[in-house]
Amino acid sequence: MSSIIQLLPDHVANQIAAGEVVQRPASVVKELLENAVDAKATDIKLIIKDAGKSLVQVIDNGSGMSVTDARLCFERHATSKIRQAEDLFSLCTKGFRGEALASIAAIAHMEMKTKQDQDELGTHIIIEGSKFVSQEVAVLPKGTSFAVKNLFFNIPARRNFLKSDTVEFRHVMDEFQRVALAHPNIHFTFYHNGSEMYNLPAAGYRQRIVGIMSGKTNEKLVPVNEDTEIINVQGFVCKPEFAKKNRGEQFFFVNDRFIKSGYLHHAVMAAYDGLLKDGSQPSYFLFLQVPPNTIDINIHPTKTEIKFDDEQALYAILRASIKHSLGQFNVAPVLDFDRDANLDTPYHYKDLEAETPTIQVDGTFNPFTDDKTNQHYTKASSGSGSGYSSGSSSSFSSGSSSGSSYSGYSKRVEPTATWESLYVGLDTESPEAIESSPFTFENEEVTSSLFNDNEIEQASQGTYQIHKKYIVSPIKSGMVIVDQQRAHQRILYEQFLLNMTVNQASSQQLLFPLNLFYSSDEMTLIEELKPSLETTGFVFEDAQTDHIVISGIPVNITESEVSLVIEQLLSDLQDGIPANSYSQNDTIAKSMAKSLAVKTGSYLTEKEQDNLVNGLFACKDPNISPFQKPTFITMRVEDIDKKFAL
Ligand code: ADP
Ligand code: MG
Repeated sequence: MSSIIQLLPDHVANQIAAGEVVQRPASVVKELLENAVDAKATDIKLIIKDAGKSLVQVIDNGSGMSVTDARLCFERHATSKIRQAEDLFSLCTKGFRGEALASIAAIAHMEMKTKQDQDELGTHIIIEGSKFVSQEVAVLPKGTSFAVKNLFFNIPARRNFLKSDTVEFRHVMDEFQRVALAHPNIHFTFYHNGSEMYNLPAAGYRQRIVGIMSGKTNEKLVPVNEDTEIINVQGFVCKPEFAKKNRGEQFFFVNDRFIKSGYLHHAVMAAYDGLLKDGSQPSYFLFLQVPPNTIDINIHPTKTEIKFDDEQALYAILRASIKHSLGQFNVAPVLDFDRDANLDTPYHYKDLEAETPTIQVDGTFNPFTDDKTNQHYTKASSGSGSGYSSGSSSSFSSGSSSGSSYSGYSKRVEPTATWESLYVGLDTESPEAIESSPFTFENEEVTSSLFNDNEIEQASQGTYQIHKKYIVSPIKSGMVIVDQQRAHQRILYEQFLLNMTVNQASSQQLLFPLNLFYSSDEMTLIEELKPSLETTGFVFEDAQTDHIVISGIPVNITESEVSLVIEQLLSDLQDGIPANSYSQNDTIAKSMAKSLAVKTGSYLTEKEQDNLVNGLFACKDPNISPFQKPTFITMRVEDIDKKFAL
């Protein structure tokens, strides 16, 4: 039989390799930026059009290339960065595979201009689908410019696979941020469709982080510094009270390379142990330097995962140094209180006295009764940064709150039997008491349509809450058991959707407009969502670059919940904004229902229970939550009888 094996032609091999290296415009951005960094540039410009789909250009003032290198760099396995296998263990460059340019050139139109400092003239090359179209001598400044146009022009299937511009742009933004954070000493500029997204002068880590994230980030950062024989850790972690719902701002860099590591993430989380609200995520920007021969970056094609020689030691060092920093900057003791989940109930009731928590406390101490006004003055005059001495070893000071009345707390724990013991010896100046009062105070004039008015009068036949999770209520045929969280999600969801589609949401004017700071990619998302958010009752003032100004909010939200709601929304939209307005409204309504619904673990008064049950059954679709989970079950008397008949 004749032989059938052949070597693939280069352009085919390159196109196949491209599948691994270039998934989307952001991959091109990453490769070109890294090449510019490797060329020791001090000034790098990134210019993209249509989220990189029609153009990605990177201009640097680095070393440039000779005429021969300019031609050779497009060959597969052509690299100046390693010569032999051993070099892999002393890598100080981003690239080393020598396949990025060959891959990109195989699937796009590419134009390169490059000149070395010592040369009179530079080289200008045009290459399309691996074919050299032209090569000329040109007058150029020192450095290199790569322009990549019409990505996947010869692979329609890949082109069609690309997501919306919003999604692709977010990916580009991620890559840009990673490289720019890792190299604060390089001046980066970034333009998208002609507008400047970033202009980041050479600086230190702190300034770079602030430049990329937002002006407000500065005050949230706690420095981390640790130098040992096996690792040097530098960088910043965020104070626990600024922890977010999503994992957006978590960065590890190892030897100036962005990496992902579940193991090291765990070490950071362990350092925050006990300081975070359930499920919240601290931002961190950690720059680790380790000897190059103790890591292997070769285990993942896109190189965001690496293997360490002594992971356990790194874990311990990282955890200890962050713990130390959090302690040193005095953020740890602030959050030592367990708090009653009741106080987190996001409801506000008109004309209702605040409920006494179910916990047993020292009989003389009741923050919720007596003169309400008086309490509010106490709260107001206490200021946002004052410390209270509890008489016990724990001292408490509420961090400056960013619009959220409970942002000073981080730990949300189910009340347990040990609750009482925590409060023994606390005097009536308990910070818990004072801090919790705004839950009824802050928006007294604001009422949730679910929990007020006449509805309260039409009490059902009585309800009972079990395990702070279910509401049990007798009905004619037996009883109904309602899941409080899911039921409330359904009620809110329908309410929001109705408001949005009928466009009749009323809003409450804020006395002082709220300023909320976001990173620039979050700002892009918010800009796109604005029209839909306005239909829920939000009123925005003129757009700023790094923050939004909100002057009106939906009636069923309180001021303190706004940042929470928007953050949840941003995290729900990680995968992009739905294309049509119907599903966009649906996503927003779901997300807001999720963040505002009463949670499992919240104590509800009888009236609240009643209203929840009534509200649920007034819904169009009471059977399921917006997330397709059952909201209630029924048990017929016969069923119960049967059980007893056994
Ligand atoms: P790698 O970065 O893995 O070496 P690439 O395909 O990305 O592979 O680049 C091939 C070679 O081209 C690099 O090793 C480098 O010598 C050269 N090169 C690429 N980009 C630049 C640049 N911006 N400035 C100078 N040289 C560059
Ligand atoms: Mg490279």
